[in-house]
Amino acid sequence: MSETPQYKRVLLKVSGEALMGKRDYGLDTETVNGIAADVRDVIAMGVQVCLVIGGGNIFRGVAGAAAGMDRAQADYMGMLATVMNALAMQSALEKMGVPTRVQSAISMEAVCEPYIRRRAERHMEKGRVVVFAAGTGNPFFTTDTAAALRATEMKCDAMLKGTQVDGVYSADPRKDQSAKRYEELTYLDVLARDLNVMDASAISLSRENKLPILVFNIHAPGAFASVMRGEGPFTRII
Ligand code: UDP
Repeated sequence: MSETPQYKRVLLKVSGEALMGKRDYGLDTETVNGIAADVRDVIAMGVQVCLVIGGGNIFRGVAGAAAGMDRAQADYMGMLATVMNALAMQSALEKMGVPTRVQSAISMEAVCEPYIRRRAERHMEKGRVVVFAAGTGNPFFTTDTAAALRATEMKCDAMLKGTQVDGVYSADPRKDQSAKRYEELTYLDVLARDLNVMDASAISLSRENKLPILVFNIHAPGAFASVMRGEGPFTRII
């Protein structure tokens, strides 16, 4: 077992729902702390880490639109939800002694920095965790796409997608015992088979930029570090 990380710089995408724990809505502090502890351990390995956090635990634009709101307006609300999650993660990380900066795609200077690519890069070089908030800053996009975009801009070696299970399966492993985990898939496999990993624009952007996607279980303590060592379980999409 090698302690040497296989990656120098990665982006971790965590969905808003992953922060809910067993709750139906909002944030579960213990869950946020658990993910923060895993990030801390990976930083301690010498890996540079940035994060994109979704907002689905608070508000999703499509839900607002379904309830009769203007879609773009609802999407801006969704982006604001991601800022709340980013601030919660920053607080958890800093309590653990991990220097962190939040950069938002929608300027909010009283609470965080604006997104400035070169500044974000500098923070990462100094070992700070950068949490990218407010998605891409544009309605009609998702934080999956924001993650692929920021990972590409930051020249990350891989994008990690933390999910509820330890990779991509042929069926839902929580419902179907015969479901098999894929070790490796291509971007086109994911698109053609409509596998529920990340949305199609995130997969396409990753494919164009040859950004490997590693899908793993965000709730298994130590799994993030294990993926960084190249150990499973995870699914690699290349
Ligand atoms: N959103 C957006 N543009 C972006 C990223 C996010 O409009 O670039 C909005 C969209 O309404 C989305 C919400 O923010 O529903 C929360 O993001 P997402 O659904 O991606 O969060 P997750 O599913 O990862 O929790």
